[in-house]
Amino acid sequence: MSAPLVGRLAIIGAGLIGSSVARAVREKGLAGTVVVADRDAGVRARVRELGFADEVPETAAEAVADADIVIVCVPVGASGAVAAEIGPALKPGAILSDVGSVKAAVVEQMAPHVPAHAHLVPAHPVAGTEFSGPDAGFASLFENRWCIVTPVADADPAAVERLSALWSGMGANVETMSPQHHDLVLAITSHLPHLIAYNIVGTAADLEQTLTSEVIKFSAGGFRDFTRIAASDPTMWRDVFLYNREAVLEMLGRFTEDLTALQRAIRYGDGQTLFDHFTRTRAIRRSIIEQGQETAAPDFGRHLVAAKK
Ligand code: NAP
Repeated sequence: MSAPLVGRLAIIGAGLIGSSVARAVREKGLAGTVVVADRDAGVRARVRELGFADEVPETAAEAVADADIVIVCVPVGASGAVAAEIGPALKPGAILSDVGSVKAAVVEQMAPHVPAHAHLVPAHPVAGTEFSGPDAGFASLFENRWCIVTPVADADPAAVERLSALWSGMGANVETMSPQHHDLVLAITSHLPHLIAYNIVGTAADLEQTLTSEVIKFSAGGFRDFTRIAASDPTMWRDVFLYNREAVLEMLGRFTEDLTALQRAIRYGDGQTLFDHFTRTRAIRRSIIEQGQETAAPDFGRHLVAAKK
């Protein structure tokens, strides 16, 4: 058997993403040793029970000592404090990475704590579910999904290549872009859709009681898919909006303008405008399916995710 890609891999945060990374790396034999740290003693005990880590030390600083690659898997707003805790313990040549859904703010928070002898290479696997915690993870989460690597300006090319190889090993397709560009793209593809889902489900919840129970009863009409997205972790998503504020506000401004145009078309009975708009959006759905990022199944392919768990 060939040597694993990484000697010692440390994962900080045993939630959905951290535990999925640990499971994927173990399943594919990508690291000699997988070390998992979590601030919560109960979660550490659960990680030991689930058996997806070789070592589960008491602290994050212990976990990163001697690690070749460290992946921080905590909410965006906690990444600076975690970097401050582990920065001094990073060994020469270590690669420090993360999985945060926002990148420019993560770089800003983490970079000051990375010693000159280590390399910061942030990344974002564009894959997830609405579930949280160590039980929610699964090894195939990243397969055929994108992982966006967002190197800092003076990044070491070899470190970027090594981290990219790790994500490729987990089955992801790797793309590289600047942290700022990432934040703009994800604002429209991920952050705004979540905001819309949180908003529409909140609006429905505020309706009079009889109407709300009918909303639940007839939810398959489209509302159901919003409720799945709006069930996503509140801490994670609070941080996404706090830390990607400018890009989200920019996209929200454009969205509001377009919504007003649709509202106007409805008001004036302008069927042609509505028909043209819906025809254009249907084509976008088709190209997402053609690119393998979704299935044509009417339930948004959710049974596929469930089957993999
Ligand atoms: P999760 O399942 O809720 O896990 C969060 C982890 O972070 C837990 O281990 C938690 O510790 C730890 N944590 C929370 N606050 C902390 C703090 N202040 N200090 C230290 N550790 C802290 O969340 P997740 O879905 O894995 O998300 C983790 C990261 O992945 C986030 O940055 C998110 O933006 C990114 N991401 C998420 C998705 C997704 O769909 N969920 C997709 C791509 C990227 P405890 O065990 O003590 O709670």
